[in-house]
Amino acid sequence: MSEFDYDLIVIGAGSGGTRTARISASYGAKTLVVEGDRAGGTCVLRGCVPKKLLVYASQFSEQVSDAEGFCWQINNFKSNWTDLIKKKNKELDRLHEIYVNLIKNSGCDLISGWGKVIGPNKVSIKKNDGEVLEFSSKKIMIAVGGESSFPDFNGNQFMINSDQALDLNKLPKSIAIYGSGYIAVEFAGIFNGFGVDTHLIFRANDALRGFDTDLRQHLMTSMKQKGITIHNNNTISEIEKNKESCKITLSSGQQLSVDMVMGATGRVPKISGLGLKKVGVQLGQRGEILVNKLNQTNIKSIYAIGDVTDKITLTPVAIAEGHAFADREFGGIKRFISYENVPSAVFSQPSIAVVGLNYEEAKKQNINAREYKSEFRALKNTISGNLERTLMKLVVDQDTQKVIGAHMIGPDAAEIIQGVAIAIKAGALKSDFDSTIGIHPSAAEEFVTMRS
Ligand code: NDP
Repeated sequence: MSEFDYDLIVIGAGSGGTRTARISASYGAKTLVVEGDRAGGTCVLRGCVPKKLLVYASQFSEQVSDAEGFCWQINNFKSNWTDLIKKKNKELDRLHEIYVNLIKNSGCDLISGWGKVIGPNKVSIKKNDGEVLEFSSKKIMIAVGGESSFPDFNGNQFMINSDQALDLNKLPKSIAIYGSGYIAVEFAGIFNGFGVDTHLIFRANDALRGFDTDLRQHLMTSMKQKGITIHNNNTISEIEKNKESCKITLSSGQQLSVDMVMGATGRVPKISGLGLKKVGVQLGQRGEILVNKLNQTNIKSIYAIGDVTDKITLTPVAIAEGHAFADREFGGIKRFISYENVPSAVFSQPSIAVVGLNYEEAKKQNINAREYKSEFRALKNTISGNLERTLMKLVVDQDTQKVIGAHMIGPDAAEIIQGVAIAIKAGALKSDFDSTIGIHPSAAEEFVTMRS
């Protein structure tokens, strides 16, 4: 008989927590999963998946205009937002059920309720019906993710967050989105595609801080061309709300009246109510759980993965961390994930995807870098009349001749960069790219034909 009720209690049944639990259970660990909301988590229920469905939906307006360029006659083309949200929610219900089944079929227990760490080996669970349970466990994994966070200013309570934006009963006629990170630019594309008068307000000069400068400027140009109004170099000083609209005062003094304001000013680790401070788990400045290489906190039996550790806040990273944890702790496989060359995509319109270093980052690291660039109008757009252009870049370390970065803005960027990421991860040289035969005609072939 073990001295503990469980070998592992996982708090949070998102993508990372679910993978941790399933793989641990597959090694024979007696595992309990605790989830206060619905199993599935942010990515599946309030993030990546519903967002991408709405990105697809919003792109049809441009695709119809492209089709007209190709001499299709299209009459009476209009969307039905309410039906779309119902369909999207039905799909999320299906995915939620899949998550429940994944957890249960892998042999884990699943309890619906809010978990709290009450000791190095103890978790209490407040069930949604008010009942409180307590269990002991050899190890505890915290995989609770993050939540949106707004800066402090008068009227910030009138902003909706991305969870709410994904579930609106009705589309506004106009919207202002505050911020210019992943979420802000993705939702700007969604609302604009549905014909909402869309304003993007942010404090930097260009959107998407940290990305390649040319890509950032390219996105700004494209967003403006598609009809999004940009208010860069601005913060929101105040929002006043009346029955009909929200009046926004910007730091420039300009005022803006819109139906709705969405805040997308970053996400923070969702640690409230977890009892971590009391148990003595060390936290960083943003409230992130500090972990070592083993994803272990300063309390040896407590671990954390994913957004709550605020390292690379991407679903596939949380999944990889959870899987590696299970392999190490219960599978006897000592392996660690690499945080280098993690590809990512922004489903803005046009979309962006990147892997590795950009030129500025390489220079900062004193790498003798050279960049190769290709900017063009995609074949489709020669007839569609769409003004959108594609930009692709490679960064090469001239000393080793290794390709150390690939960056793209344009259709299918995520699909293309995923393949390039394998080559970069494998240490491909520029000459390997050059000797690869292109697929013609495609945009992707530009990555193997860049000469200057
Ligand atoms: P980001 O960190 O990407 O962007 C935050 C934005 O808010 C930036 O524009 C930032 O400005 C601005 N901001 C932050 N604080 C303030 C402030 N006090 N006043 C005004 N503006 C402020 O956060 P997101 O919420 O967009 O996304 C969170 C994370 O979720 C991302 O980093 C990403 O890891 C993940 N994600 C990934 C997606 C994907 O893979 N496609 C999609 C969506 C989210 P500034 O740049 O000037 O600092």
